[in-house]
Amino acid sequence: MSRYIGPVCRLCRRETAASKTGEKIKLFLKGDRCLSKKCAVERRGTAPGQKTAGKTRQKISEYGRQLREKQKMRRYYGVHETQFANYFAEAARVPGQTGRTFLQLLERRLDNVIYRLNLATSRAQARQLVTHRHFRVNGRVVNVPSYIVKPGDAISIGERSLKSNIFQANLEAAKNRRPPEWLEFNDQDNGAKVLQLPSREQIDTPVDVQLIVEFYSR
Ligand code: SF4
Repeated sequence: MSRYIGPVCRLCRRETAASKTGEKIKLFLKGDRCLSKKCAVERRGTAPGQKTAGKTRQKISEYGRQLREKQKMRRYYGVHETQFANYFAEAARVPGQTGRTFLQLLERRLDNVIYRLNLATSRAQARQLVTHRHFRVNGRVVNVPSYIVKPGDAISIGERSLKSNIFQANLEAAKNRRPPEWLEFNDQDNGAKVLQLPSREQIDTPVDVQLIVEFYSR
């Protein structure tokens, strides 16, 4: 399966340039850099590519808006096209609001949960830490980033992993950040718990999920 290996800041600039309101859209793909002055959206919010350089807005069709929103959300969570469509199909099978279930599924991925718990600086780093077997769910090592957590799951960090520089730095930075309310992190034993399914209000993903529902319902 192909993987995007180009400069990820281009992806943010693409979404910002497509924004109707001129809003600066950040996908937070580069960890601490996203919060610094070096962020490419802060420095240069134009669309990537020579032809579009200097233009901040272009006319966009309804289909184009739906497509952009889908791409934005897919890149935000770092999920491949096929897997993303599979999540949507799974959400559509569940009775209730498809958009909310879809968002919940992506939000409950283990790599996203590790990022939300501030145990990684980006989802990409979280994905790498998961595949390198640093985390346990209910006492068992899980090395699958797409693992879907459920309420009641306990997440812990391996004892040896805790001593590594990367976890020492991430745990230090995490002291100043709070996870969303559907997750709980215990500073004493560096363990976490999934308290409930995330509500829409607890998911700060900057997408209009209705546009994505419309995209897949064409
Ligand atoms: Fe996006 Fe982060 Fe790059 Fe800024 S630094 S453009 S938020 S990936």
